[in-house]
Amino acid sequence: MKERNNRPKKPFIIAGPCSVESREQTLATIRGLAACGRIDMIRGGVWKPRTSPNCFQGVGEEGLAWLAEAKRETGLPFGVEVANARHLEAALQAGADMVWIGTRTTGNPFSVQEVADALRGVDRVMVCVKNAPVADTGLWTGAVERLAAAGVSGERLWLIHRGFAQEVDGAYRNPPAWHVALEMRRRFPQLRMLCDPSHMCGRRELLAQTMQKAADLLYDGLFVESHIAPDQALSDAGQQVTPAELCRMLAGICWRREEAHQPQFEQELERYRLEIDQLDDQLFSLLSRRMRVVERIGRIKRENGVTILQRRRWGEIVENLTGRAAALNLSRDFIRTVLDAIHMESIAHQNRVMNDAEDPAEQR
Ligand code: PEP
Ligand code: MN
Repeated sequence: MKERNNRPKKPFIIAGPCSVESREQTLATIRGLAACGRIDMIRGGVWKPRTSPNCFQGVGEEGLAWLAEAKRETGLPFGVEVANARHLEAALQAGADMVWIGTRTTGNPFSVQEVADALRGVDRVMVCVKNAPVADTGLWTGAVERLAAAGVSGERLWLIHRGFAQEVDGAYRNPPAWHVALEMRRRFPQLRMLCDPSHMCGRRELLAQTMQKAADLLYDGLFVESHIAPDQALSDAGQQVTPAELCRMLAGICWRREEAHQPQFEQELERYRLEIDQLDDQLFSLLSRRMRVVERIGRIKRENGVTILQRRRWGEIVENLTGRAAALNLSRDFIRTVLDAIHMESIAHQNRVMNDAEDPAEQR
């Protein structure tokens, strides 16, 4: 899929209904997606991991036959979500080309292991792994490792970033944590990464901008929901769009190249990158110096029996620096996030000094 010439890379687009609901809905949706010409594979949920048992739970195995029928008619391969060995067996029997491990399943190592064990020796399906609900790389990495140990890796194993659960309601249903996904890419450079804007956004108005963001961050493609009559969908109605609407959105996304292969551009880029490397180096040297000062303060505090945290002082630092946000051309949120990280590291350093009986500086 990586293009070495100057054409934009081709994104891999997987689209389809959140839930397969009926033969008519499945066929109509997939026909619409096939007509678009930009869709590479169909997704459709037949077993739905719904939070509440009172919600629609999916049609089960029956739905696999409808997906297979649509594949025969349109030629589009399909994938379904699997959460256990029985699901996998049924999906394979129905001719699924891809299976995906959903967020709740990635969050449960027993289930991931069960699916991984069942995939041992199965070499024809593509396997996608969504991130776990919590915004870190731990469970996601664990799932990749379990699958790799069962022989599913390389070209066949894909990652899907679908955003992470949040405690308070915000604009996104599951806000993306782009840095967590980027860390997964760094850790597993051989794996392709898709973005699922549907479950990130939760509402269709945010889809287009989120897809563009994924394109700008060099995702390999999208995993997106589409329903022939979104408002009547039995699950995730607010985030689904018709095949025609999705097709319009996809046409509007600009998939840029990672590299331009123009010597002048590359030279200029290299120069700026060297400058960035130098600045990063200075930034961290300064932070290291700051920690040494913090440790000295820790020693005086210990001698005088005062606590590490002095609320008034911390409040002043935060106020002072966030107050300079405009002048620094940085957002207040960013300043706050950086300060919090510096503060936590400072406290850890002081803690070490205050609790360490064998403080090396004292022995000097
Ligand atoms: C889905 O893709 O239909 C789904 C249930 O997603 P997630 O596992 O991301 O919640
Ligand atoms: Mn869904």
